[in-house]
Amino acid sequence: MNIKKAFETLIAKPIATLIAKPYAKQLLSGLLALVIVLPVVIVGIVHLTKTTKDAPPTETTLQTTLENTTPESTTPEETTPEETTTPPPVITIPDEFMEKFPTYDGDGITEDNVLVRVNIVTGPTENEIYAGEELAKYLTQKGVAVEDGGFPIFVYQDGLISEDGFSVSATLHGDDACMRIRGGNGRGVIYGVYKFLEEYAGVRYFTPTLEVVSESDIVLRDGNLLAFSPYFEMRRLSWHTVGTSSDWCAKNGINAHDGQESEVYGGKILYGSGLFVHTLGALSEYDGNNNGKADGSDPNPCLTSEEVYQTVLKNLRVKLEADPTVDIVSVSQNDNNTYCKCESCAASDAKYGFPSGTMLAFVNRIAEELEADYPNLVIDTLAYNYTQAAPTGIVPRHNVCVRVCSIRVCFMHPMTECNDAKGPNNVAWTKTHDFLTDLLDWGKICDRIYVWDYTTNFAYYIAPFSNFGSIRENMRLYYEHGVRGMFPQGNGQSISGEFGELRSYLLAKLMWNPLMTEEEYYTHMDEFLKAYYGEGWEGIRAFIDLTTELAGNADSCINIYEAPLNSITAEEYLQYEEQIEAWWNTAEALAGDRLEYVKRSRLQWRYIQLLLHPNDEACAQFVADVNSYGIRWAESPKNNKPLNEMFTNLYPVGGAGGDGPQDGQDPMNP
Ligand SMILES: [Zn+2]
Ligand SMILES: [Zn+2]
Repeated sequence: MNIKKAFETLIAKPIATLIAKPYAKQLLSGLLALVIVLPVVIVGIVHLTKTTKDAPPTETTLQTTLENTTPESTTPEETTPEETTTPPPVITIPDEFMEKFPTYDGDGITEDNVLVRVNIVTGPTENEIYAGEELAKYLTQKGVAVEDGGFPIFVYQDGLISEDGFSVSATLHGDDACMRIRGGNGRGVIYGVYKFLEEYAGVRYFTPTLEVVSESDIVLRDGNLLAFSPYFEMRRLSWHTVGTSSDWCAKNGINAHDGQESEVYGGKILYGSGLFVHTLGALSEYDGNNNGKADGSDPNPCLTSEEVYQTVLKNLRVKLEADPTVDIVSVSQNDNNTYCKCESCAASDAKYGFPSGTMLAFVNRIAEELEADYPNLVIDTLAYNYTQAAPTGIVPRHNVCVRVCSIRVCFMHPMTECNDAKGPNNVAWTKTHDFLTDLLDWGKICDRIYVWDYTTNFAYYIAPFSNFGSIRENMRLYYEHGVRGMFPQGNGQSISGEFGELRSYLLAKLMWNPLMTEEEYYTHMDEFLKAYYGEGWEGIRAFIDLTTELAGNADSCINIYEAPLNSITAEEYLQYEEQIEAWWNTAEALAGDRLEYVKRSRLQWRYIQLLLHPNDEACAQFVADVNSYGIRWAESPKNNKPLNEMFTNLYPVGGAGGDGPQDGQDPMNP
């Protein structure tokens, strides 16, 4: 407000002494309007001249603590993007926005700095207006009056702030009293509003249908209230219950998801249609489609073939011309380990040390070719199974992103302790290095690593997946190793019979702040449990604590397909069965109107009990109950049989069943 203060001292106050007070007030308002509106105009221009919504994080947020994750300076920069010659569009501020400019009567804040009356003024875009409406909605619920004459709150985009970042500041008293919520882009504006409400108004966005607004006063202070710049530029989530709600995602800082894209939330980071993952099979077809083949599972094409290259490039161009607004496209292997071993490919693999080098050479060439026409487009590829190990003698171009997939690790222990899951017969999955070594190796050559992480058991969606002890530590580790984007994949296919909603909430919180303390983490967990499960929530917390502890035992490693009793054993469950049963009974008894939530999450325990005490009648009832919720048993369509058959398949006769690997089998090389 320095500019305004200068105006006030040099111009407004002397003039005000000469003319009647109402006019001075208007003049002051006009000057304030200039100060506030000017950045809005500039920001509008900055925002609209950008050709994509790509969101590079600020450098300060991505400094890694490990020296060896710094990319080498050999990153090729052969081509520079062409300068755009299109003049920036002129944004005019609508008259009604000017007319709305507030006068403040000085009574919006009490002597104790409690907010009681506000007047919300927003920038002109759909996104800014919506952000203001949301702010008004929640403040009204808090009993704060929203009306002319109230304490001014300005909500607008400010290009000086990093993408997805925001700043909230306030001057509580005096002639220039106001609060400003400024976002670096549309998402930053909406995040600024929602996080302000979370921090200062006690609002919680637990699920798309469960929010809590505390009754506490909103107490402000002078100066900076909040300032944020994202730790991860990509924050993606696929849990079904929340991951298809753009609204919940915006409220929880998720900027990439399976829900609708919406301008009011500032849009999302957009993958090209059909270009999210496992694309090379389709892209190497003559028309860019799978043509009735299995979904992304056909063998991988020859990556040293000029014909394949030209076909993939042509198909990508067709898709990009159809939708030039996309931010990122994936040129990545199909979901199997079948890759070309022709003489030329084998020579290339040998040259780079691993097949990942052949893949990267192909992707780099595509990325270089597309850059002239799509200078802000990111081309991603996977480091997954046979391409998990980083190559030597080649580095990703600056417009290439490598998504490193943690599919082969143990998820019960933090990666610092244990990062190479063994199958039940102690057969290691990873053929080359452990995951952390590969992640670090990629970090040496790539400055845009995203991690595709796994947060459920994909062969047993209903079983407990007791990773609550490791997800916080792993998220911190990813951030500290220079990872710039996260995708914790979950059960995105149906609602959860386990802890899908809780897990989503915590994962969103962790992607927002991967450096949170253990105490903060469990505070978030307890707040959720209390709101979601009602008065008996402590029994559920006890169940989580016990299973987390048991899954943390040294011999409890499991990957994402193993039979649940390979982690916490039948003997261990039997030892605590009576206690666990009592916890769930109490939780149900005290649940009140949360009973359905408790019953649905209890399915995981009922499932374990059926494994401990097989019983046809109880099994039939269980299958019917799961069916009534529409819950899937496993990720693969292979398990989409009549439910009674599926349960039989999942029965632990002779070890793992369902879609998971059999004992000792490498699921990547069955
Ligand atoms: Zn080949
Ligand atoms: Zn382990």
